Amino acid sequence: MRILLIGPPGAGKGTQAVRLAAYLSIQHISTGDLFREHIGQGTELGQNAHRHMRAGLLVPDEVTIGVVEERLARPDIERGFLLDGFPRNLAQAKALDLILADSKSQLDAVLDLEIPEDQVVRRIAGRRLCRRDREHIFHVDYSPPKVAETCDICGGELYQRDDDREATVRRRLEVYHGMTAPVVDHYRARGLVTPLSAIGEVQEVLDRALAAIGHGQVDASGAPGR
Ligand code: AMP
Repeated sequence: MRILLIGPPGAGKGTQAVRLAAYLSIQHISTGDLFREHIGQGTELGQNAHRHMRAGLLVPDEVTIGVVEERLARPDIERGFLLDGFPRNLAQAKALDLILADSKSQLDAVLDLEIPEDQVVRRIAGRRLCRRDREHIFHVDYSPPKVAETCDICGGELYQRDDDREATVRRRLEVYHGMTAPVVDHYRARGLVTPLSAIGEVQEVLDRALAAIGHGQVDASGAPGR
């Protein structure tokens, strides 16, 4: 199964992407994580990406598309993938169309997480990640760790991403609305988009996402079925 997960910063994309990919046994591919790996390794690409990320701007398309193309060429995506944070503009969406056409594959679904803006800043400002494993995500209000600043799962130190500060978040939201909304239109025209409310408990949102792709049960009101 090949899925895109789209949504503004703070919609819980990363949290849902990890769980959805694990549930479906497909690869979770986050361009943000790929860049952070490069930054951690001190590569030239990482240094370049970091300059843009720190400012709340998109990393240039040629860099981003190259990273995705390389990742989608690896054999571990045979069962499918869930792309998280890509494509973020129309040029990237068109590049992905070409990459998929080259490999004679196509997308199965585009999940569009929706959240009111006033909730976004609060969500992001409280987010904390584990230094040992970025997939261990906490929130000072919504899912606080048992011991302050310490990962419940592995004991790693928790930290705040430098692009999660309020001013940067506001810039990221502007970028999102200007550039990513046309991506949703691009896929909507092909009937691939399912809008999903990102409000509620992690499991509720996950149940909605699974129902949207034909897994799990959700009743007509959108309430979780299990
Ligand atoms: P994320 O972890 O998805 O919130 O991404 C963090 C940052 O990485 C973004 O604010 C961008 O600066 C950069 N980034 C991630 N994905 C992309 C993309 N598809 N295109 C350009 N920049 C990206």
